[in-house]
Amino acid sequence: METDMRYIEVAISLPVYQTFTYSVPESFTDFMATGKRVLVPFGRRRETGYVFGQNQGADIADIKEMKSILDILDEQPLFPSSMVPFFRWISDYYKYPVGQVVKNALPGGLNIRDYASVAITEKGRNELDHGRLAPIAKDILGQLQSKTILVKDLYKKIDQDIPSTLLYTFEQCGLITRKWELAGDKTKARLERFVRLTDTALPADRLSATRTKIIDVLKIEGEITVKKLKESVPTAAALIKPLESDGFVTIDHKRVYRDPFGESIEPDRAYILNQEQQKAVSQSSNYLTKGYKTFLLRGVTGSGKTEVYMQVAAEALKNKHTVLVLVPEIALITQMEKRFRARFGECVAVLHSALSAGERYDQWSRIMQGEATVAIGARSAIFAPFSNIGVIIVDEEHDASYKQEGSLRYNARDLATVRAKQIGCLALLGSATPSIQSYYNVATKKFTELTLETRVEQRPLPDVSIVDLRQTRDMRGIRRFITPELQQAMKASLERGEQILLFLNRRGYASFPVCGACGQPMRCKHCDISLTLHQQANAYRCHYCGFSRAATSKCGFCGSAKIRHLGLGTEKLEAMVTSIFPKARIARMDGDTTQRKGSILKLLKGLKNKTTDILVGTQMVAKGHDFPNITLVGIICADLSLSFPDFRAGERTFQLLAQVAGRAGRGDRPGRVILQTYNPDHFSIAAARQQDYIAFYEQEIGFRKALNYPPYSRMIQLKISGKDPQETENHARLLGDLCRTLKVKHSADYQSVEIMGPIEASLTRIAGRYRWQVLLKGLNAKALHQFINQLLSENPPVFARQPVLVAIDVDPLFMM
Ligand SMILES: [Zn+2]
Ligand SMILES: [Zn+2]
Repeated sequence: METDMRYIEVAISLPVYQTFTYSVPESFTDFMATGKRVLVPFGRRRETGYVFGQNQGADIADIKEMKSILDILDEQPLFPSSMVPFFRWISDYYKYPVGQVVKNALPGGLNIRDYASVAITEKGRNELDHGRLAPIAKDILGQLQSKTILVKDLYKKIDQDIPSTLLYTFEQCGLITRKWELAGDKTKARLERFVRLTDTALPADRLSATRTKIIDVLKIEGEITVKKLKESVPTAAALIKPLESDGFVTIDHKRVYRDPFGESIEPDRAYILNQEQQKAVSQSSNYLTKGYKTFLLRGVTGSGKTEVYMQVAAEALKNKHTVLVLVPEIALITQMEKRFRARFGECVAVLHSALSAGERYDQWSRIMQGEATVAIGARSAIFAPFSNIGVIIVDEEHDASYKQEGSLRYNARDLATVRAKQIGCLALLGSATPSIQSYYNVATKKFTELTLETRVEQRPLPDVSIVDLRQTRDMRGIRRFITPELQQAMKASLERGEQILLFLNRRGYASFPVCGACGQPMRCKHCDISLTLHQQANAYRCHYCGFSRAATSKCGFCGSAKIRHLGLGTEKLEAMVTSIFPKARIARMDGDTTQRKGSILKLLKGLKNKTTDILVGTQMVAKGHDFPNITLVGIICADLSLSFPDFRAGERTFQLLAQVAGRAGRGDRPGRVILQTYNPDHFSIAAARQQDYIAFYEQEIGFRKALNYPPYSRMIQLKISGKDPQETENHARLLGDLCRTLKVKHSADYQSVEIMGPIEASLTRIAGRYRWQVLLKGLNAKALHQFINQLLSENPPVFARQPVLVAIDVDPLFMM
């Protein structure tokens, strides 16, 4: 129980940056705890607040007319008190109101009250019939007389405010019982029979040949499923029963988990590590329980990073610590989950957006109550409510999906090191292509590097050949993009029964429809963007706002029906491949084919079961998947991301190409990559060809330094958007003026802050909103943050929600 909870600090879920002090009526103090939600009076309204703990800063005597809380909304805390400093840090760094930080951190739909039900006890019935009860108590017990009721329904039935403490009190007096359960959300556990040897050795005279075989298998494998034992000894099922009754083996029913492909997960044991992996595990494990430290595990594609994560995790669990694992996207979470469950079993929880509200609640409370000691999830899992973390692992740390855009803008990779530092634990970031930022932290000794230079089992890196697309520029039709070199290699792979991955970072059929009469492109009505033709959907679509026009639409300028479909997308690529290899089984993985739940897994299953010969896809296929039968990767056009007006274009291109190339040759047979490009000499492409990260880093970091780009500086982008073009521009200009005035007024403090803009954004209009930006760049992070804080506090109306919005993006990743 926490000490003195008569006065508490509360963060309110409203756009206010400070916290507030409330008093707690005596009847509530026993139920009060940090991490619960409370209902509080705020102005003339009632608002939800989050309890941050006992009142710290404010002097009680100074607070006149302190208000008291109205109700406690949770039975159990939703987060541990150790997360309070984390929330404060996020609010301060990302300039986001602290109560709203908490609201964003808790998964939506996490309302324990929704799942609570109450039932009357025998004692309750007695009291109702014979006792002297207050009218409200009579009312409540009366409602429960015939059936169990969900608390939220009870509130509706009793047309009166019931403080939740009343229910707690009833429960303590034994009048009612409460239960928390989910209706119909749980999937049934699957049980399997497991056999293992006991300590009693079988006497030699009872050893038949088959029995000897069973004993031998069990000696080698330890505990295995009966199903697996039958693979070696088909008659085992009948033989083990008598062995069990004589006490030579034991048979247990245990829960097994199914992998994302629906097969049960066999328990596995730690692999034997190669020397490099061993070194990485021992070097990092040595620092467990010794306070904060961040390691960057740089391992080429296919070098066995996951096994390193699992063995470090095992060490942390041995120390009774918990383990948090971040993975960039859902398809990879299920893979990671499978491997962790096989190793660690029941203690694994998963957190991601594809879970239903009920499943999410379940996982969250398993973590909160210490039932789960490993949590695996996408970026929002950084908020998993663990209290004694031993290591935070961030897989594919370079991945842009760790950056949250919209509402609370944060980077989960960066938050991993912040949280690790606050609680004094290990952070382990891993990638084959680390972000420039993270490798710079190695170079400046903030992080410690661990390396895996070779693939597991000494498999060679794929052989990459470059095809210069300038040679086929003037060709027509298919040969322009599926060059003779690529076509030949594909044919050879198919003949050997191997699988092929074709990568093109653009979905749709034709990405650049142009009027054949007047030459104008088909544009979105709401965005300043070219539409893309989607043949299957029979429509032109905007990839930014979803606007769509019938495929039969005429030119908006001259009315001509003659539209030329320029620009290649995955849909057209798939059609081209089908026409060349009509017998091959072809599948496509992109934003259009993966919208339904489970569709990604279905596509991956096709690869795994070898019912797909060729997979065509966007960057979705580049991410960490492991399919041993893929021996050829074709990169259709390596240059698409190079031309973006963004200083990270080179970094993204390198990462994408090196990752895609890394999908080849992960099995017994060597891999080959054909990389088609218009810029064969560009250093990002040349380095990706060699999978030479260091060569890439050294080129890129020189360029960053020369132009004072991150990591040599920090950036904060003010994103201004509004429906009226003039109003938006005016607001942007006003904001620019305010920035400049502030800098002039405090020139000594803010000398290092550079103000760029306001300028119109590269994507000038999205979804009907005009977009402008002001970019603040600072060589000194502290001064930059002080600058924006002062700007915020001196000009609240400029940042207030109004027709023109100003979003603050700290460490922006997408600058367009
Ligand atoms: Zn036209
Ligand atoms: Zn649009």
